[in-house]
Amino acid sequence: MIVRKSRAEIEKMRLAGQVVADVHKMLQDIVVPGVTTAELDKKAEALIRSRGADPTFKGYRVGREVFPATLCVSVNEEIVHGIPGSRVLEEGDLLSVDCGATLSGYVGDSAISLAVGRVSKDVEELMERTKASLYAGINMARPGNRIGDIGHAVSSSVAPYGYGVVQDFCGHGVGRRLHEEPQIPNYGIPGTGRRIKSGWCLAIEPMINLGTHETRMLEDGWTVITADRLASAHFEHSIAVTDDGPIILTSRGDDPPGDWIPGTSPVS
Ligand code: MG
Ligand code: MG
Repeated sequence: MIVRKSRAEIEKMRLAGQVVADVHKMLQDIVVPGVTTAELDKKAEALIRSRGADPTFKGYRVGREVFPATLCVSVNEEIVHGIPGSRVLEEGDLLSVDCGATLSGYVGDSAISLAVGRVSKDVEELMERTKASLYAGINMARPGNRIGDIGHAVSSSVAPYGYGVVQDFCGHGVGRRLHEEPQIPNYGIPGTGRRIKSGWCLAIEPMINLGTHETRMLEDGWTVITADRLASAHFEHSIAVTDDGPIILTSRGDDPPGDWIPGTSPVS
C-alpha cells in the first residue's frame, strides 16, 4: 500500500528533511583531508539530537544486521551503506554521505557526494552528472506520470557518458518509515509502472558508477562496492508529489533555479 500524505504531514516531512539538510550543509564544511568518518558521524548525530530528532539509520535492521551509525559513509568505489570508523579521508577521495533523521514520527532521507580536497576530473564530472540525474528524476515526480518515467529520466540523463547505473539498490517511498512502497528504480521504461499520485513522498536516489553497474557486498554485511572498484556517486532527496509539482523536502537551498523544471505537463 502506498501512503498518501496530507499537506500537514508533508510539512512535518519537510521539517524532518530540513534536519538532514542541515547535517549535509555542516558536512560540506568539515569534509577535508585528515578527518575520520567516525568524527563526521559523531558531529552529525549531535546536530540531529540537538534538534530533538533521532538518527533514523542508527539501529536500523536488515535481517540480522543492525546498522551502528548515524551516517552511511561510502568512499570512492563504495556505493552505499559504508560504516563510519577510523578511516582517514584523503585528498582526492569521493565521499558519499547518506543521512536520515526522524522528527515527530516522520523521516527525512538524503544523500550527497562530496569531493575531499581536489578530485580527478573524471570523479568531478561523475558527481556533477549524478546530481543532475537526480533532478531529472525529481522533475518527473508529478501526478499522472508513472514510476518508470522517473527511472528513465535518471538513466537517460547519464546515458551519454557510459556510466553504470546501479540496479541492485533503488529509491523508495518515505514517511513514517524510512522505506515505504513504492520502490523507485533508477532505470525504467517511460509510461510504465504505477501512476504517480499527489501526496506520495518519495526518496529518489541515483547511484551512478564510473564503470560497471555491477555491485559486490563487503564482509561487514553492509558496504556495497562497485564490482570493478571504480568510483561511484550518490545523490538523494526526499520529495513530495503535489499538484503543483515536486517539493524537495530535504532541500539545502542550492537546488537548480526555478526554471530547471522543463515541461510541466504530465505524460499521459
Ligand atoms: Mg538515503
Ligand atoms: Mg533512501
